[in-house]
Amino acid sequence: MGAMLSIEEARAAVLAEVRPLGAEEVAVGDALGRVLASDVVAAADVPGFANSAMDGFALRSGPAARRLTIVGESRAGAPADRALGDGEAIRISTGAMLPEGADAVLQIELVTESDGAIDTHDEVQPGRNIRRPGEDITRGTTLMGAGTVLGPAELGVAINAGRARVQVARRPRAEVLATGDELVDPGAPLGPGQIHDSNAPMLAALARQAGADVSARRVRDEREETIAAVGEALDAADLLILSGGVSVGPHDHVKPALEANHVDQVFWRVALRPGKPTWFGVRRSDDTLVLGLPGNPVSAYVTFVLFARPAIAALQGATATTRRRTAHTGVAIARHPDRDECVRVRIDEQGAATPTGPQGSHILSSLLGADGLAVIPRGDTDLPAGSTVDVYG
Ligand code: AMP
Ligand code: MG
Repeated sequence: MGAMLSIEEARAAVLAEVRPLGAEEVAVGDALGRVLASDVVAAADVPGFANSAMDGFALRSGPAARRLTIVGESRAGAPADRALGDGEAIRISTGAMLPEGADAVLQIELVTESDGAIDTHDEVQPGRNIRRPGEDITRGTTLMGAGTVLGPAELGVAINAGRARVQVARRPRAEVLATGDELVDPGAPLGPGQIHDSNAPMLAALARQAGADVSARRVRDEREETIAAVGEALDAADLLILSGGVSVGPHDHVKPALEANHVDQVFWRVALRPGKPTWFGVRRSDDTLVLGLPGNPVSAYVTFVLFARPAIAALQGATATTRRRTAHTGVAIARHPDRDECVRVRIDEQGAATPTGPQGSHILSSLLGADGLAVIPRGDTDLPAGSTVDVYG
């Protein structure tokens, strides 16, 4: 068994096998979380017309202490019906079109109104309180490139750029297959040795959050059944995510089932804790990706974040495939001699990362309140407090 891959090497090996999916067009309002498949270019200037930044009076620039006759009104969506002349003011609302002949707006607080006229209380420079056309967006500018993940702000900007629909990557199909004779449905009474299947719903939720269309099911630790379930899932999936059964015990049928289904192994085992037995391969005939994640719930979660989430992002052509930042450790943390460890950490306001509690791979509750997974590099001594670490998630 050669040297185990590092986290980075393993992720690079996964990404190297990804063939991005095709695109489809969706309404901007339905595009939250989707990945742009083509650039969004501004169709027009925004604002499209000079307008007021304040409620007040449109007027001509000039000295303070003028008396100007109010000759009309410009409201948002209802411009004034005449131009402004010398000695005149037009009442104007925020966002309303600047009348022709005006070059500034004086806010309402700086005038006194009486008998159909205003007295101005401040000198007015040209352009005061005016939003110029194109100040926000200039026509022809590429606002967002292909590969951008559309969040709420991106949807708003796309609409301002004149778009009703956007080209996005098709959603990847993820099939989750949880293996284990011990597994029963959530809430089902537990017989001796049985546990609730938390991985299938948890991994399905993670995949959904990453932008995939997901279905999940369970399969027993039985060779033929596993082969058949893997075959069906492969046909439906862009990415097959297996939980459990990927070790070397007599009841671990995942690897033989993948082999029987002509899935080529790319790697098995990563120098990672938890998550060492992670398996990755590809069915070359249709580029279906397969991740065999360890059954221990924390291992399954960690390896999803490290390898499956980037795969789902890359299938959609996302420019950024990993969500990673740095933090410093708030306390000394023990290190594993030859595997990098993903530690569930809380990050305080000073940016200090501290483990949430016991870190066993079966202690799923240690993910509660975690702000991320800090990678503690392998080593022979404790990692001192104040060390810089990568944090995923
Ligand atoms: P395995 O990888 O199949 O050897 O499983 C390792 C550990 O994870 C065992 O303690 C399993 O009972 C547990 N486990 C496996 N699958 C699941 C699951 N779907 N939900 C919760 N725990 C699981
Ligand atoms: Mg098992």
